[in-house]
Amino acid sequence: MEIKSRKNKRTSILVILAILLVSSISGNFYFISKNFSVIKNYDEFFQKYQEKQQDFDSLQEKLLNLEKDLNQISQVEEDIIKIKQEYFATIKQLEDDILSGKSDQKIAYLTFDDGPYYNTYQFLNVLDHYNVKATFFTTSINGEKCYDKKSENCLLLYQEYIKRGHTIANHTFTHGIYRGLYNSTESFITAVKRQEEVVQEYTKIGYTTNIVRFPGGSRTSGRLKNEIIEELRKMNYGWVDWTAQDGDGGTLNSKEQAWNTFTSSIDENIEVVLFHDYNNITLSILPDAIEYLQKQGYLLFPLFYESNMVQK
Ligand SMILES: [Zn+2]
Repeated sequence: MEIKSRKNKRTSILVILAILLVSSISGNFYFISKNFSVIKNYDEFFQKYQEKQQDFDSLQEKLLNLEKDLNQISQVEEDIIKIKQEYFATIKQLEDDILSGKSDQKIAYLTFDDGPYYNTYQFLNVLDHYNVKATFFTTSINGEKCYDKKSENCLLLYQEYIKRGHTIANHTFTHGIYRGLYNSTESFITAVKRQEEVVQEYTKIGYTTNIVRFPGGSRTSGRLKNEIIEELRKMNYGWVDWTAQDGDGGTLNSKEQAWNTFTSSIDENIEVVLFHDYNNITLSILPDAIEYLQKQGYLLFPLFYESNMVQK
């Protein structure tokens, strides 16, 4: 009995020991496996973290470069505005001196109405050849399609004017002299605002213009003229007619007719010359017209808001 109970006692001790051993091993194993899984997850996490860090770094670098570029862009924009202001202030001073008789210099502003047309490229090329900057009074009669070459997107010309250093002005969206443009002050102003949006959109750089030319000339607006001018003034717009032309807005039968009309209209110290960039006769006399003006002592500039020729 004693032996049996001792045996039992030993067995119980062994069982307890066995239980303790197993539980300790499994506990350890549990602990190890738990630890192992944490480490494994941590590695994955760390790897992911490093990847994110790399993404973040490269994005940050991109952002910094973009900010640098944006700063450069706004710096360039500021420089352009400053240079333009200085350039136009110099011309304005010259105008003042001419008008007061202090200077015997002469100025001609070449202006082209009713574009953009596909033909406009040829006018731009002639101007480039003489390194002459001009002003384009734009309208949207034709929309996207060129009047003279419907397969071409004429709206690209808005950027072309800017690239080549010319100024863009507003000739109203519709040009609808006989289609309601002059029905009321409101209809005219609406057409000016719509064209302003076109200029801003298609120059891609938000170019703004504040010079308008009445389609048909300011007299065409009749009894509305003063009210329209008042509204334009509120919008900080100036307006301009012309002092010289080759008659291409009407019926031009020959190069000779255009030339005679043009040369006989040049008789003032400051001229605003009206041309239409759809007219092939004008295109054919343009080189001679530029040379003629230069020989007569005219300096050719693009028109600008502050000019005495732009009425406010
Ligand atoms: Zn016109």
